[in-house]
Amino acid sequence: MMDIESGAFSYNTVLERTINTMTNSGLRTIDYASGTSSRIEVAVRRALMTGYGQVQRYMTDQVAEELGTEYFEVSAHGGARPEHAEWQGGVYTKDELYSICGLDDALGLCGINCYHSYDPFFPGISKRRYTDDQLEALKAEEAKEIEFNGKTYNKYQALQEQRKMERQMRKYRQDIDLLTKGEADEERIQAKRIKYQTKYSQYKAFSERMELPMQRDRIYADGLKVKTENPIEKIIVSKTGIDNGSKTSYNNSPLEDKLRKQYRKDVKEGWITALFSEDQYVKLYYDLQDKVVGLKTINDIEVTDTSPHFMARMIGTSRDPKIYAEDHRIVHRNGVEMEDVIDAIKNGEVAKTQSTTGKGISITFYGNNAAVTLNQETGILIQCNLLM
Ligand SMILES: [Zn+2]
Repeated sequence: MMDIESGAFSYNTVLERTINTMTNSGLRTIDYASGTSSRIEVAVRRALMTGYGQVQRYMTDQVAEELGTEYFEVSAHGGARPEHAEWQGGVYTKDELYSICGLDDALGLCGINCYHSYDPFFPGISKRRYTDDQLEALKAEEAKEIEFNGKTYNKYQALQEQRKMERQMRKYRQDIDLLTKGEADEERIQAKRIKYQTKYSQYKAFSERMELPMQRDRIYADGLKVKTENPIEKIIVSKTGIDNGSKTSYNNSPLEDKLRKQYRKDVKEGWITALFSEDQYVKLYYDLQDKVVGLKTINDIEVTDTSPHFMARMIGTSRDPKIYAEDHRIVHRNGVEMEDVIDAIKNGEVAKTQSTTGKGISITFYGNNAAVTLNQETGILIQCNLLM
């Protein structure tokens, strides 16, 4: 709590540390007097948010008293629960904060899970942060419904659905962790990983459709170091009991088919050299999932996935098709070694941050022999270059 207030640590850092301390002590759920039980990270997040609001509120009240004002302006934000959307952004007297906004009520202003705050307001001097028109526009925007898989969601409902999906993913992560520690059957663990992966893709698609940012820190707030990716190769090997390392062990996997199709397309178009085989391509993908996905950069961005373009850059080509198409020059592009990619991610210096329109912010890390670029928001590897 004091850490947040003094500004020494970010909210997420404090959250992560608190949860680690608590789970390391063996605590997993918190039982409230009401009889409800809450998963630990949810309980901690709630306590920190509520506590933070309380400190702010105390300070606001002090200032208002010293300056002798009767009026307060309540903040406004998107995704507020419908009851709060009714009064957010308005100017109220202290009495109205109680009667209209439900101050001190568990479900009201500054109550449980409320992200609203209020500041002293001086009529005739202060300028309102939001005009009535802006507040109306916000309300209309919030009420707009978007469809996903046959169901419609307004902004608030979409946010609720996102939180629900994050809870489910945390549950799967904890299951994977417990099963792994309990040395459960590999197939049972795999089944959970598949569930997690499916939920994650659903979460991603949902968030994109609803135009809401994904909140990965809520998924990873459990502090667990679990392996959630699903090495399909291994499932099939374990099912057949054969580990011959040949193509046959990859049969019937949609992911494999996709990889092989991508390989053929990239060879045909000249993005990768045909000297690199299709099987090597598939293996490279799994190697990246094993060794690179999950790594963190010096500024704490977690690598979440690779992209075909990144893989093509790692492999290299004898004639860069883009340069050739532009001015018929034959430019040989060397590939990048796995260890150089890892070095750039783990130890590389952040050299530039650039905004690519519509695709988020990309950031490049310069290692000893290679430069690696990834999408700062999604954690997906975009490209790499050998440094000469
Ligand atoms: Zn609120």
